[in-house]
Amino acid sequence: MIDRRARASVKSLTTYQPGKPIEDVKRQFKLTSVIKLASNENALGPSPKAVAALRRATSGVHRYPDATCRELRGRLAKKLRVDPASLIFGNGSDELIVLALRAFVDPGDEVVVAAPTFLIYELQARACGASVVVVPLKEYRYDLRAMKTVVTPHTKLVFIANPDNPTGTYVTKKEFSAFLRDLPSDVIVFMDEAYYEFVEAGDYPQTLPQVRDRSLIVTRTFSKAYGLAGLRVGYGIAQPPMIAAMEAVREPFNVNSLAQVAATAALEDTQFLSRTLRTIREGRRYLTSELDALHVRHVPSATNFILIELGPGAAEIAQQLLERGVIVREMSGWKLSGCIRVTIGTMTENRRFMQALKQCLTQ
Ligand SMILES: *Cc1c(COP(=O)(O)O)cnc(C)c1O
Repeated sequence: MIDRRARASVKSLTTYQPGKPIEDVKRQFKLTSVIKLASNENALGPSPKAVAALRRATSGVHRYPDATCRELRGRLAKKLRVDPASLIFGNGSDELIVLALRAFVDPGDEVVVAAPTFLIYELQARACGASVVVVPLKEYRYDLRAMKTVVTPHTKLVFIANPDNPTGTYVTKKEFSAFLRDLPSDVIVFMDEAYYEFVEAGDYPQTLPQVRDRSLIVTRTFSKAYGLAGLRVGYGIAQPPMIAAMEAVREPFNVNSLAQVAATAALEDTQFLSRTLRTIREGRRYLTSELDALHVRHVPSATNFILIELGPGAAEIAQQLLERGVIVREMSGWKLSGCIRVTIGTMTENRRFMQALKQCLTQ
């Protein structure tokens, strides 16, 4: 129950439900071994270089963090070949969604989102008092043509998850260029590239070169491919004046000192990144061929997770998987009640998931 004195835009919100923690499931079902394939976390754990750097950094936590993320900013600017002033860091890339809304969206402004997509866009836009325009996906893919038709003079911002979560599909270079063509230049496009590192497709759009010429905010994260979800660090890239607007509304110490140190080290851990990408590629191949063999429909994924169609029994199967110690995401919160979303894990985890799923399906 939300207090009656809450702002009108807050009272109507439904709180975001994260994936279940492993410890809760162990306790609830008296299990000793539980695997979590529900939050698209890194199957291999954190980057070892990040962990080593963290150990060295703990003695400094009595100090406030560097409010500008100087070291991380410098390294990342060099790696991405962008102006350091075009970068902003957040407490996860989630925070950048909030900062963009806080910096650019007045109550009553229109914000365009897709459905189903990352739920935070709509939730936070509503919290800001924006008028949210929802455009359905078409066959599990963003329908950018339809999203452009709803743009009006009141539209301030358009959110695009590329690749999308929870579908795992991506917008192509051609589709994105067509979307940008003739889009009023005042409309801000928020391009959420949380799964950027996983994409292998040649027709995936490279957006950084377009940041200089457009009202475009691109965000990425250390939570997924770099394995640092628990530390909360993500970044955004945009024209320096747009970054300045977001900087003006962020808390000075939004990225903690351990997160900064770990992200800086993880950035250099190319070995860990390649091992992660290899694991995901192999796991995706295994899971899709097993699902095909069972004639279970699934959406082609460019990411480290797969959306699987199970039909009307999906929620029940998710529950049975839970009782077998396999946490997956049940999708009714996204209005995809016939589906589950499964994060690609290690091969041991993937096999355990498939075995449990087969048991559930043949019961
Ligand atoms: C996981 C995810 C994020 C961000 O995660 P942070 O941990 O806040 O960086 C952002 N967008 C999408 C679509 C995601 O799936």
